[in-house]
Amino acid sequence: MSTTPTPTETHNPLQVLIVGGGVAGLMMALLLERINVPYTIFERAIKVRPLGSVLSLNANILPVFEQLDLLEDLKKFSLPCTSMDLFEPSRKMIASMAMHNYEETTGYPALVFARPDLYDLMLSRVPKEKILMNKKLLSIEQNALGSLYKKMSEKNLLPKSDSTDMELGYIAMVGVTEPQDPEKIPELLEPQTNFRLVLGSNGMGWHAITIPGNRICWRLGRQISDLKEAKELMFRNSEWGPESIELMLNEYRECPNPFGGTMGDLIDATNRNNISKVYLEEKLFETWYYGRTVLIGDACHKMLPAAGQGAINAMQDAVILANCIYDMGEPTVENIKDAFKVFKDHRYQEAKEQFENSKLVAKLMGGQNWSEKILRKIVFGLLPDWVQTKRFIKVASYRPQAVFLPLAENRGIGPVRPQLPTRRGGPRKVSGNNGSSSSSIEALTSQSKAESDEKEKEEKDTALDWLTRMQPQELITVNHGSLDEGIKCLKMLLLQALAIGK
Ligand SMILES: Cc1cc2nc3c(=O)[nH]c(=O)nc-3n(C[C@H](O)[C@H](O)[C@H](O)COP(=O)(O)OP(=O)(O)OC[C@H]3O[C@@H](n4cnc5c(N)ncnc54)[C@H](O)[C@@H]3O)c2cc1C
Repeated sequence: MSTTPTPTETHNPLQVLIVGGGVAGLMMALLLERINVPYTIFERAIKVRPLGSVLSLNANILPVFEQLDLLEDLKKFSLPCTSMDLFEPSRKMIASMAMHNYEETTGYPALVFARPDLYDLMLSRVPKEKILMNKKLLSIEQNALGSLYKKMSEKNLLPKSDSTDMELGYIAMVGVTEPQDPEKIPELLEPQTNFRLVLGSNGMGWHAITIPGNRICWRLGRQISDLKEAKELMFRNSEWGPESIELMLNEYRECPNPFGGTMGDLIDATNRNNISKVYLEEKLFETWYYGRTVLIGDACHKMLPAAGQGAINAMQDAVILANCIYDMGEPTVENIKDAFKVFKDHRYQEAKEQFENSKLVAKLMGGQNWSEKILRKIVFGLLPDWVQTKRFIKVASYRPQAVFLPLAENRGIGPVRPQLPTRRGGPRKVSGNNGSSSSSIEALTSQSKAESDEKEKEEKDTALDWLTRMQPQELITVNHGSLDEGIKCLKMLLLQALAIGK
């Protein structure tokens, strides 16, 4: 490790202002606490009221929870999730995205819990005086040392100006029920859980999942594929009052509940304060930093929640940024700029991949136009299981950790990608079980890889061959989407299949 002083050991110690006490801001705070960098969180809400109901975290971020001694506490209010199952309203299963041997492969379960529980846990570790509620950031002025938000907008550098157009969005209603009777819903007694999604018609879909405490998290959603309608909804976002909430709830009351009965039963079992209406959209910005301001989390990449990657990526940003701050040395304007550049270089591509992945999973598990239906048929009907498994292993192998804390070892049999250096140290390897290094785990997996390579190639060739020969009209059942969209979906799928096959 180099002898470069940390930002607090210099004559001009760093002071960090965190705007927003969401998961990204709170994770940033917990990490800065460990390197003794002073910080203050400014949160616009009067009281932390986390939007959304359920949240899932997996091997992509759980090692950091382990480093922060939060993993065991997190497990106390979580259930391991084993699959994401898609049903017709008649409760007939259409598709299942199973995570076979996820824990054995990665060393971590995919944990599911109520979002407010995570907030409570993280908040309990942030000293109270460091989080200021009811403080909304309106603008920041530039001084001789650097530029800030307001100026970014004036110079047309504010990320909003470089976002790609949103392709589809969802308007959703989410809630967590009060404890339910396990005699009526026996699934509540199971030691694991799974997402149960139902695909309705006219863009409607809903899902429910059990969480500890005999509670059920649910979501009602409607897909918006018309950009004009989406923009109008976004504009009206702040105007959603109780009437519009009631209207949407009523639309779904009679929809079948995946646990029996109707969704109205779950709505009525939920305290109205625990129901929120959210607009789910996607955005990926190119500009992540300017002068002494840097964006993390949904502020620079907002993902659709289908793949459960938004919060994970927001926290991964915090981890890499904290590493860059730790490695920055004297916090001069130049060093800060360099640190932000390294941060973006590390994170942009990873976030972009997860952004695309989230888009694809949203289409697969919720899309209702013809091209999305075709995509679903191909993926669940034709692509062999190993493609899905391999994809999970590849995604799970990215596990950035805080370099200034003892590294969590890899207890899984799957690979972990070596972490890129931020400046001080070289690439850090995560040691595996019994002190074996990640390279021996890589050797293990490459051995099994070699064994299955030939079989995979054969299967891949068949799938790709089929895709290129396929006549789309053979599979069309409802014709809602455009041909362009269909081609885009197929192209995306082919690229994914090719990337997985590499
Ligand atoms: C229904 C739903 C389900 C989801 N499920 C999952 C999942 O299972 N797994 C997963 O990884 N992700 C999931 N996500 C995505 C995830 O919730 C987000 O990606 C994540 O919360 C982003 O964290 P963040 O801290 O960047 O932003 P946020 O959590 O949105 O926090 C931003 C905070 O900043 C505050 N703020 C904003 N502007 C200002 C201002 N001007 N001044 C002061 N404060 C301000 C806000 O009040 C808020 O508290 C889901 C999202 C939704 C909506």
